Amino acid sequence: MKDETKVVRSGRHPERFEGVVNPPVFHASTILSPTLEDYERKNKLSAQGVPGTYYGRRGTSTTRSLEEAVAEIEGGYRTVVYPSGLAACAGALLSFLAAGDHLLMTDTAYGPTRNVARGVLARYGVATTFYDPLIGAGIESLIRPNTRVVYLESPGWLTFEMQDVPAIASVAHRHGITVLIDNTWGTPLYFKPFEHGVDVSVQAATKYIVGHSDAMLGTVTCTKEAWSKLRATTYELGQTAGPDDIYLAQRGLRTMATRLKQHWQAGMELAQWIARQPEVERVMHPALPGDPGYAIWKRDYRGACGLFGVVFKAISDKAFAALVDGLELYGIGASWGGFESLVMPCKPTDYRSVTAWPHAGPCLRFHAGLEAVEDLIADLDAGFARLRAAA
Ligand SMILES: *Cc1c(COP(=O)(O)O)cnc(C)c1O
Repeated sequence: MKDETKVVRSGRHPERFEGVVNPPVFHASTILSPTLEDYERKNKLSAQGVPGTYYGRRGTSTTRSLEEAVAEIEGGYRTVVYPSGLAACAGALLSFLAAGDHLLMTDTAYGPTRNVARGVLARYGVATTFYDPLIGAGIESLIRPNTRVVYLESPGWLTFEMQDVPAIASVAHRHGITVLIDNTWGTPLYFKPFEHGVDVSVQAATKYIVGHSDAMLGTVTCTKEAWSKLRATTYELGQTAGPDDIYLAQRGLRTMATRLKQHWQAGMELAQWIARQPEVERVMHPALPGDPGYAIWKRDYRGACGLFGVVFKAISDKAFAALVDGLELYGIGASWGGFESLVMPCKPTDYRSVTAWPHAGPCLRFHAGLEAVEDLIADLDAGFARLRAAA
């Protein structure tokens, strides 16, 4: 089955729910058993890792439906749902690390994920080395006897460096190291982590799976070998997500393939238009020919989402503000993956420790929404005119 078909069909079981198309929202803490025997049977199944059935915290059919769908689409063995993308990143890391272990984390990881490494993981005795995202097979030189996890995020947060996932994964596996990736940009549709050597893949489902800027959710999907650790730690941590948010994620999922095509197309057109403006130093979009990450994107990815970055030449704060503040169709805000276009100013140097950032000008991250591209470009055109007038 093609992915477009999978997003429509996966995880749905109308025959179980009176023919209802969308899996219903089960609000549950207590799940009753009719007999002692049934109660004991469910507990036993639950302890063996059979999902669901014994208590609301471990999810209901609402939860199972989303987990099943994400696992099928992303191509993993099983999925667990977390209440946010960051909780999913943290849960994935905690599942495969213990006191005394060493973690290799890309220098371009999502800022709050870096804080997990430098905060809770450090406090519990896990040492982290941040590495250059472009290191590829050279990661071998950073591996220590106690290295247990290599954490990737591709493309990199804010700056969009593409990592050579298969090269890093094959070195890691030679040393018995578990490979984790934050695959939010790639989405379960456009990058298939388990075909490229990844063991555990995180999605900030808040972004394109929910897709409408109205719920927070994360997923962690893994191979069969990684499942027992992921499952045990997730349950030990008591991580659970609310059924209404899970329902919104399921609903978003059904249109994700269709939405993503438009985000991809609009992002490419915007990025190309922006790259032609004389005040722009660089556009960071791995699907643009000429981008340093293009060859890897072309080799490993099936598409691109609507998120990319722009570095400006040295311009005044006033000129930068004149561009951003007058935009009508772009919200100024964090997060992305919803239907609307967004911009977010950012300073990559605040979030890296081992890779240099050669640019002095301001950076603006763009999310291309589902508006007409002509309107988005016209709005930006007016913005660049304001920038020039203010310069
Ligand atoms: C947004 C984001 C997260 C965190 O997701 P939340 O749901 O906002 O907690 C993690 N990784 C990446 C790459 C993100 O963009």
